[in-house]
Amino acid sequence: MSYNDILGQDDIKTHLKNAVSLGKISHAYLFAGEDGMGKFEMARTFAASLMCEAGGSEMCGECRSCRQAASRNHPDIIYFDPDDAPDNKQAEYTREKIVGDILVRPYQSEYKVYIIQNAHKMREISQNIILKSIEEPPEYVVLILLADKKESMLQTIRSRCVDMTFRPVKKELIESFLMRKCEVPDYRAKEIAAFSFGNPGAAEKAAVDEEFKERKDLISRLLSGIYDRESYEWIPFIDKMLSDDDNLNEYFDLMEDWFRDLLLNKIGASESKLCYDNQVLKIRECAQRVLFSDIDNSLRAVTRARRALAANVDKGLIIFNMLASFSVKDN
Ligand SMILES: [Zn+2]
Repeated sequence: MSYNDILGQDDIKTHLKNAVSLGKISHAYLFAGEDGMGKFEMARTFAASLMCEAGGSEMCGECRSCRQAASRNHPDIIYFDPDDAPDNKQAEYTREKIVGDILVRPYQSEYKVYIIQNAHKMREISQNIILKSIEEPPEYVVLILLADKKESMLQTIRSRCVDMTFRPVKKELIESFLMRKCEVPDYRAKEIAAFSFGNPGAAEKAAVDEEFKERKDLISRLLSGIYDRESYEWIPFIDKMLSDDDNLNEYFDLMEDWFRDLLLNKIGASESKLCYDNQVLKIRECAQRVLFSDIDNSLRAVTRARRALAANVDKGLIIFNMLASFSVKDN
């Protein structure tokens, strides 16, 4: 966790770092922008920087306070989300969690920071409840409201907050981020970045979804042919998984999903319940060729493979043995 992990928004970072180094902290900030723009990370990093024991303009990441902040265990950084309120009790919830708490002095820091997520989901009554906390806060209090756009907040609130609107991030920055973090090839990074309209979170999600789709496709191609292929024909599939070996557990999840789909099909469950709902024909065909006990054996083989993976056995061997257990049938 650090400002470097947030793409773009250089003006906001500079403003917040200066505020900390000059000790000119406002009592309320309004971070406005779509989901995925980095508001939450910015708020957490700013809060941690305010409390860092090293006393620089940004968090050091090493001290006890920074470590507490990074693991979301800092007693003086409070997270509030109106979505957590019980049904129809948003106002009471807001009163209890913010107004009722704000007079309690910080435990270990000079400040007490409230990070209010989804502030745009606060009804007018709830916004009015926190208004007084924003108008006359105790000197140690900092409220950071995160909202989709500033117009979602009452004018009375907006006028008392430092307004920080998150701007679309440059395409080139998003591209290199996707290549670095999601290991997307450059031509795809370009395409995804072009359609993300400057929103790095949305771009990352699109890239990750795409990887997931590719993995799922690999597993369905592998397993739909597992009873017909010779074992040497597994090699390209195994190599592909090994080249992506940080995600072996996800491949294993997808294999379990496949066998559960066979099971669901055998018991006549609705095909809309299948995880591989785009492969219904293959699922049907495979399900007809196996017994319940085959499916059970295959699921056990995946469990064994997970255990072996945790025990640092050779990964290629683990996968090969697992596939060999899949293809051995009782009938
Ligand atoms: Zn620190």
